[in-house]
Amino acid sequence: SRQEVSYFGAGPAPLPTPVVEAAGQAFVNFNDSGLGLGEISHRSPTANKILDDAKANLSALLDIPDNYEILFMQAGGSGEFSAVVQNLVPVWIERRRRRAEADVVKANPDAEKAQVDELVFQRLQKEVDEELKLDYLVTGSWSLKASQEAARLVGSKYVNVALDARKANGGKFGTIPAEDTWSLTPTKAEGGKGSAFVYFCDNETVDGVEFQSFPKVLEAQGQDAEDERLVVADMSSNFISRKVDVSKYAVIFGGAQKNIGVTGITIAIVRKDLLPPQTATPPAALLHRLNIGGLPGPVVLDYATIAKNNSLYNTLPIFNLWVAGKVMADLMGVFGAQKVSGQEQIADQKSNLIYGALDKYPQVYRVVPDKSVRSRMNICFRVCGGDDAKEKEFIAGAEKRLLQGLKGHRSVGGMRASNYNAVPLENVQKLVQYLEDFASTQ
Ligand code: PMP
Repeated sequence: SRQEVSYFGAGPAPLPTPVVEAAGQAFVNFNDSGLGLGEISHRSPTANKILDDAKANLSALLDIPDNYEILFMQAGGSGEFSAVVQNLVPVWIERRRRRAEADVVKANPDAEKAQVDELVFQRLQKEVDEELKLDYLVTGSWSLKASQEAARLVGSKYVNVALDARKANGGKFGTIPAEDTWSLTPTKAEGGKGSAFVYFCDNETVDGVEFQSFPKVLEAQGQDAEDERLVVADMSSNFISRKVDVSKYAVIFGGAQKNIGVTGITIAIVRKDLLPPQTATPPAALLHRLNIGGLPGPVVLDYATIAKNNSLYNTLPIFNLWVAGKVMADLMGVFGAQKVSGQEQIADQKSNLIYGALDKYPQVYRVVPDKSVRSRMNICFRVCGGDDAKEKEFIAGAEKRLLQGLKGHRSVGGMRASNYNAVPLENVQKLVQYLEDFASTQ
């Protein structure tokens, strides 16, 4: 039964049992309407209410300021790897286009529109060629993938890997080197021209590396609003697990399937001034002519289109949205005014228990990432120095106790205990007991 199994999978991941039970009912006969949530129109009043409630609960949990738009999308975290490029590079181009247009008109007051457009185009083409940069902080497998997707779309010449954390750690992820070693594109205030955005993954699911706080260097904003650093964060695997100052970000995104719900819903929180009418999207014809790979991109990943249509541009999976909304509503119900800080305390408590047990037996267990960047969500460790037979023995013993999903990602091996919000304290205690018992037999 559900009560007997302790599941530590990295995603999809456990959901609170009351939510799963209510979801079963909602899938069959929602609120006694005679229809299930997989069957109703995404434009029905019922669906609209589910959407409004989910937004309101997320907004309350994370204290999302009014100048942010909450978007429910599809295509997962991976879809957002493309979406951030597709949406933020045009913001950079449009800002540059406006500046170029103002300069050209000033220098050529009598020029005709076609002539102005041509001069603007020529300047833009040069600026794209020489100055377009997308900064990536690569601290694990997922930010690496995101940087690779950016390079695939727009071309690697535009992608500045400002940090590759493997370089300082023998070719492996597991640390976040000091900020003063990062090679971010300098902002105007720093004597440069700035990048289109700076991207990082807040919690690296495969490597167990989590930023402990918002990087200080990213707070340094340019003097000119157009030269600020637009910060993008992937929070797929630590969403609503701690307090976040949303106002520091341009875009926060994450798939729902770890801390929030089932697969099929992706959340993007986007600063409104990056969307029309404040920042109009450059005309498709201009993007075509500039010939930057991947632009303009698919309309279903276009933030402006999704925002304008209240996340209902095309069919949104309402059942999946309901599950996410229910998880968030229940968290609000439990933590009330504490909001996500309540969840944060529990996440800390549970992860401290697991790390505590691992640290207690250094001859048996070794936590993979550096102590300073340990993830509260994905706890990666090796058993007996990574000895294959011993690690198999560890897994087999865990399975006997119905402690499941502890195998590390296939790309790195070892063990990984994922400690998402819905993993109960009792299950963590069972794991800790097993860690103790296994260690005592070694
Ligand atoms: N980012 C992170 C941090 C992830 O953990 C994952 C999935 N494990 C992804 C992105 C990709 O998400 P999806 O499978 O939803 O595309």
